[in-house]
Amino acid sequence: MATTTYNIPEAIKAQDWYCKTKILPRFAPGNGICWSCHQNIYSEKGRTRTGYDTQGISVESAAGQLITSCPFCNRSYCD
Ligand SMILES: [Zn+2]
Repeated sequence: MATTTYNIPEAIKAQDWYCKTKILPRFAPGNGICWSCHQNIYSEKGRTRTGYDTQGISVESAAGQLITSCPFCNRSYCD
């Protein structure tokens, strides 16, 4: 069973590590705060543009995939 952990500093580190090991540019904001909607993309909960609660990016997701857009407002970070 997969675990889902929400921890902002750990997720930031996980994404930095992922980008470094895969030799990829890091698109996600360094402090996790989306410059479009001002929510932290690694928070457990956030709001979409239409006001629905939705989940942010877990430590496990940050460790296993390149983050290219905001999970809340869907703003792309790699334009
Ligand atoms: Zn956003």
